Amino acid sequence: MNAPEVVKHQPGPPLWLLAELTYRCPLHCVFCYNPVDFAHAPDELCTDDWLRVLREARAAGSVQCGFSGGEPLLRDDLEVLVAEAHKLGFYTNLLTSGVGLTDARARALKDAGLDHIQLSFQDSTRELNDFLSHTRTFDLKQKVAATIKDHGWPMVMNCVIHRLNIDYIDRIIDMAVELGAEYLELANSQYYSWAMLNRDQLLPSREQIERAERVTNERRQRYGERIRIFFVVPDYHETRPKKCMNGWGNVFLTITPDGTALPCHTARMLPGLAFPNVRDLDVRSIWFDSEGFNRYRGKGWMKEPCRSCPEQEKDLGGCRCQAFMLTGDPAAADPVCDKSPAHHKVVEAVVRAERGEVAVVAKPLVFRGPEESRRRLAGLAGMK
Ligand code: SF4
Ligand code: SF4
Repeated sequence: MNAPEVVKHQPGPPLWLLAELTYRCPLHCVFCYNPVDFAHAPDELCTDDWLRVLREARAAGSVQCGFSGGEPLLRDDLEVLVAEAHKLGFYTNLLTSGVGLTDARARALKDAGLDHIQLSFQDSTRELNDFLSHTRTFDLKQKVAATIKDHGWPMVMNCVIHRLNIDYIDRIIDMAVELGAEYLELANSQYYSWAMLNRDQLLPSREQIERAERVTNERRQRYGERIRIFFVVPDYHETRPKKCMNGWGNVFLTITPDGTALPCHTARMLPGLAFPNVRDLDVRSIWFDSEGFNRYRGKGWMKEPCRSCPEQEKDLGGCRCQAFMLTGDPAAADPVCDKSPAHHKVVEAVVRAERGEVAVVAKPLVFRGPEESRRRLAGLAGMK
């Protein structure tokens, strides 16, 4: 019998480019999505490298460019990069904690053509905002919000939601309205990187999530057109995973500070995959031809239960990083799915959250930072 013909998945262009300019950041968020071992990251790409990446990505079909980090404002060449992206025709977006967004820099970024700024908050109160980021940044963020408005950008706010702030979601929404935000993203923490280290303390209970959704809907009614609120549901409380990054290597291209190209910002953790670097290869070859970007494209890589599942198209088997973190196998079904043999691992974490078993007093939070990152790297090296 002839082997079935393998249909090669034909990807579209990398529509969304995320330029992670640096892992440096003055904040120390407990849910940070930067890699836990970021302290070992080699040199950052220089300005000329980034300019070339922008041109290559645009030529390969990218249309949106997000400048992120770490804190992208720590790069002195941010305005140069934004200006080039604007000239090339990208829709440009800055994802920032606000630290470093002085009036002068805001003016320079406006002149460079920056289209959009997303400002992150940790909570609506000074105490919790400053505790969760381990910095005194609450007042500064309020000032930056005003600066963003003064320069005529739409006001887009983001707050990562978890067990420690989810009960104050009403106040977070009210604060966003008071600051004149047009959009508010309430993104429930995803459990990767630093958030995974703190998962037991951060995962909310189902009751907390249901209340938060109810309160969000009430506030939507109350504020109507004044603000659009996006509530991103946490997948640990679901029985089907999300289509991660809208599909591996489908629309989303991340370039990390050292030039490594990834299909999502946490994919570097996956074993047995060599991701290419923009110092060695052009963006078009990386996107269309590299092993790293092709490995989990489409459905040809799937094992059971995904391989014969009638719902394949809906979620493409979920997140490869979550599958690896919870099962040790990056080609397994995402354990959020109740058809996964490892689904019980997600259920157990949720049950612990329901019982409120792990209080912050019993297990201290781990704050993101270079020293903690180096400590963990040293620990890993000691285990080898
Ligand atoms: S999540 Fe917090 S610590 Fe991490 S890059 Fe963003 S602002 Fe910095
Ligand atoms: S078995 Fe796989 S493809 Fe089917 S719903 Fe679950 S994760 Fe998705």
